[in-house]
Amino acid sequence: MAEARRLHPDFDITRSWNFPPELLAAHPIAPFDQPLDAYLRRLGFNPDQLEYVRRSYANAAGESIDRLSARAALDDWADTRFGSGDYRILDGYDTIHARLAEGLDIRFHAVVTEIHWSRSGVRVLTADEREFEGASLIITLPLAVLQSGHVRFEPPLPSDKQAAVAALNMAPALKLIYRFGEPVLPREIAALYSAQSPPMWWTPSYGHDAVDGQVWTAFVTGDYARQMRSLGEAGALDAGLRTLRAETERGDLQPVSARWIDWASDPFALGGYSSKPPGAYGARAVLAQPTEDVLYWAGEATASGDAAGTVHGAYLSGVRAAQEVLALGIQQG
Ligand SMILES: Cc1cc2nc3c(=O)[nH]c(=O)nc-3n(C[C@H](O)[C@H](O)[C@H](O)COP(=O)(O)OP(=O)(O)OC[C@H]3O[C@@H](n4cnc5c(N)ncnc54)[C@H](O)[C@@H]3O)c2cc1C
Repeated sequence: MAEARRLHPDFDITRSWNFPPELLAAHPIAPFDQPLDAYLRRLGFNPDQLEYVRRSYANAAGESIDRLSARAALDDWADTRFGSGDYRILDGYDTIHARLAEGLDIRFHAVVTEIHWSRSGVRVLTADEREFEGASLIITLPLAVLQSGHVRFEPPLPSDKQAAVAALNMAPALKLIYRFGEPVLPREIAALYSAQSPPMWWTPSYGHDAVDGQVWTAFVTGDYARQMRSLGEAGALDAGLRTLRAETERGDLQPVSARWIDWASDPFALGGYSSKPPGAYGARAVLAQPTEDVLYWAGEATASGDAAGTVHGAYLSGVRAAQEVLALGIQQG
């Protein structure tokens, strides 16, 4: 701590997150909800502190600080169910999927275009004209795919469900990934926050002996991502490299290879992960509710509190929806 404080005069800005209850009580969110930046300004955040929130919390929360709900942010910060640690699966995330998929009948390349539903059951149509029928359906489509209308519901979803889908937000998310021929920083530095864009960097090759510290990833969402997307892949990679060079004070840094991954241009994602704009308070709970005991809803956008927008939130929402379907079977059986 002392070393970090000595090196970085603004270090304590990063430690201003424990809001005393009296401070929050003295500043109720007005009158129903408001943008996070406006609320933090009312709490007394100065421009440097707001800038820090923009680069850290808001970027990780998936949207720009002025498009995030203050009420939702306060709720998320109070949600301590899952702790605040970061964990990485060294063998890759797909090891989780492989385990969960064991023994299941999974059809790949089945692009759903229409969902016909009624109280008596569901029929799902795919782009290659396959049909699947069932008594009920669990829908885990990404929020932005639901918003896009690429999947047609017949009849249309009830108005409260449509309103919940429309109320939430799914901003673009981008990763810029660079591979260098040698470690970029001393081994003990595995991540950094930049005052420039992209703000969030880490080395995913940390701990992998052959390439330790050689691969660096930048992660942006919200306006950072919108601005990077406007530059195109080559322009965004150049801008990212300039930032990394400035932060590491290594003007000579030259990657062996580099690429971006742009989730907003993936037709099966159309964005990063969901966030709650001001006023969308409560929309996740509505989205999660079953529709007429036929359509069930899972996926990160239906998860509650701090779990929304995460892998564990998506997983738990799937468990919840499966339990809802099973409970229905027990009632009917
Ligand atoms: C860049 C980035 C970094 C992230 N980092 C983290 C992190 O560090 N920790 C963390 O916990 N979470 C992280 N997340 C969030 C996490 O990845 C998501 O919350 C989670 O994967 C969502 O799971 P899901 O099942 O709800 O949706 P998805 O994983 O998006 O699954 C939806 C599925 O629907 C499919 N689909 C879409 N359209 C159709 C269609 N028409 N027909 C059939 N199938 C369709 C898609 O192909 C996809 O397989 C990150 C997300 C991004 C984008």
